[in-house]
Amino acid sequence: MLFVMALLGFLPCAHAAWFEKSAPIMGTRVYVNVWHKDEKLAQAAIEHVFEVMRGVDARLSPYKPDSDLSRLNRVAAKRPVVLTRELLLLLEKSQWAYGVTDGAFDITFASVGRLYDYREKRLPSPEQIQQLLPALSTAHLAFDKAHNTLRFLHPEVALDLGGIAKGYAVDLAIEALKKRGIQHAYVSAGGDSRALGNRGDRPWLIGIKHPRPSKALGEAGTVITLPVDNLSVSTSGDYERFFIDEKSGDRIHHIINPKTGASASGVMSVTVIGPEGLTTDPLSTAIFVLGVAKGLKLIHSIAHYDAIILDSTGQVHYSNGLMPPDES
Ligand code: AMP
Ligand code: MG
Repeated sequence: MLFVMALLGFLPCAHAAWFEKSAPIMGTRVYVNVWHKDEKLAQAAIEHVFEVMRGVDARLSPYKPDSDLSRLNRVAAKRPVVLTRELLLLLEKSQWAYGVTDGAFDITFASVGRLYDYREKRLPSPEQIQQLLPALSTAHLAFDKAHNTLRFLHPEVALDLGGIAKGYAVDLAIEALKKRGIQHAYVSAGGDSRALGNRGDRPWLIGIKHPRPSKALGEAGTVITLPVDNLSVSTSGDYERFFIDEKSGDRIHHIINPKTGASASGVMSVTVIGPEGLTTDPLSTAIFVLGVAKGLKLIHSIAHYDAIILDSTGQVHYSNGLMPPDES
């Protein structure tokens, strides 16, 4: 009897099952997958995740005029703005990322970045970029820690948290699921995902998309499949939001090199793996800007985080933590 009970303790509950649902939120598709024995509870937990994600979008979207971020962007060049705890957390993390990436991650990229329109295939002229580049620097953000306020020191500063908000939202989603007693789940929002527990008797498998899928690979073609348990995975790719400029033939995409105000070049996709989305998300964006050599150097300096970089020739570069033992 004792033996049977011990065995039952090891097996996932016999009647539990996977429940899965997706919804369009934060300009992308959010997928939630949970393991639970009670379908009603599982569905309620999934809906709760969608609510959490919609809340983040409502507060942090630069496109929603009533968001906390839009209000900050409208007012902070005129007077200090009191920050919500959430904004403070994200701005402090963004400032950390700016520091460790030598300015490759810079939420003031939007001072220039807001002139790009990927749907309308519009990009700023070189003159516009030159004129606005002086506004692009996290050094223009003056925090008053005593009063929890932020003021912009340049009149043209605009902030956009698109490089960090989805990873953060996925972290919040996993926390919300944990609070509801869920032990095995998977949440993804575009390129940012996080696994809680495992996929039953095996690890979660997360695929890295082929950045230039051919017909042979099919639309869902993946280049690498990663086994991950209890980890966040963020991928930044030049195929997510882009257009080809008719004049130059260049691929104009959504990851901006803050030093030039133009789309970053040299790599096609960067995936960062580690304990939390709040960190994997900005690092993947920054390593995309930094390129292979500086990107690997950066990731090797941050404990518990690893990266896979696909350069513009299609070659794959792994950080040391992911190398098979005989190659590292
Ligand atoms: P991701 O797909 O996580 O790499 O995020 C891309 C998004 O990050 C873009 O759509 C922008 O909103 C934002 N972004 C682009 N370039 C930068 C940059 N250099 N630093 C911080 N955020 C950026
Ligand atoms: Mg990112």
